[in-house]
Amino acid sequence: MSIPSLAIGDFRLHWLNGGHFRLDGGTMFGAVPKVLWEKRCTAAADNTIPICNDVLLIETPDCNILIDTGLGNKLTEKQRSIFQIGSPWSLIPELDALGLSRDDIDIVLLTHCDFDHAGGIVMLGDDKHPQLSFPNAVHYIQKKEWEDVATPCRRAQSTYWPENFELLKEDGKLTLLDGDREIYPGISLRHTGGHTRGHQLVELCSQGQTAVHLGDLFPTHAHTNPLWVMAYDNFPMEVISLKEKYFTDYQKRDSWFTLYHDHEIKACKLNEQLQISQSV
Ligand SMILES: [Zn+2]
Repeated sequence: MSIPSLAIGDFRLHWLNGGHFRLDGGTMFGAVPKVLWEKRCTAAADNTIPICNDVLLIETPDCNILIDTGLGNKLTEKQRSIFQIGSPWSLIPELDALGLSRDDIDIVLLTHCDFDHAGGIVMLGDDKHPQLSFPNAVHYIQKKEWEDVATPCRRAQSTYWPENFELLKEDGKLTLLDGDREIYPGISLRHTGGHTRGHQLVELCSQGQTAVHLGDLFPTHAHTNPLWVMAYDNFPMEVISLKEKYFTDYQKRDSWFTLYHDHEIKACKLNEQLQISQSV
């Protein structure tokens, strides 16, 4: 098994497979006509495109952190068919290949709580009972996001699945943030909104090197144009200005942009024209 990785100063980043699925290409590009987006992403006959859910493992000198948790292993037969699940969630064997177990994860950072990011918070064990996938981890979520999980609007009801969050309440493994916070030296969460009301980004800085995980504000490398936003974005005008701001800010810092949903590359750098100048 080959696990892509990248060093950012003292931090080692690994992309773990949180499950592959397929989504309608149109939904991933909002108002952009297919004749344009298809030049950057080939659709199948049913108009779907392949989507990864790459969970980022950050190994620091003294703790292990995950960004998001992938689809998890709780999908029903019907859901697996609807989402055309290809390669299934394989975090546990991939952690094992890196010499780690579920118990070694200290922190889980949730960019937001859509099922494709939060589905792996709770997993079914060998006995088919739900349990926390990372029982020793503190999970960080924005307070606004948690409020919307508790009382979702009609549209969010299809993506905030209660079974992903019940055990977090019981076990006291949850820290709610009201804005920005450095959660480890050089690793900060910043509330962004845009995609969802409580969406947050993760910034990594070590030894003069920077990486930023913009979550669903920058889902794939085909989304470098700030105007190319997803139909899934709840506040698309906010997403456009957030992309303009963060792309410019982090490009000036020669930062890596790490990607969650991209099936071709794992991270990229941008030039001043916001085109990809380097990728892994
Ligand atoms: Zn997503």
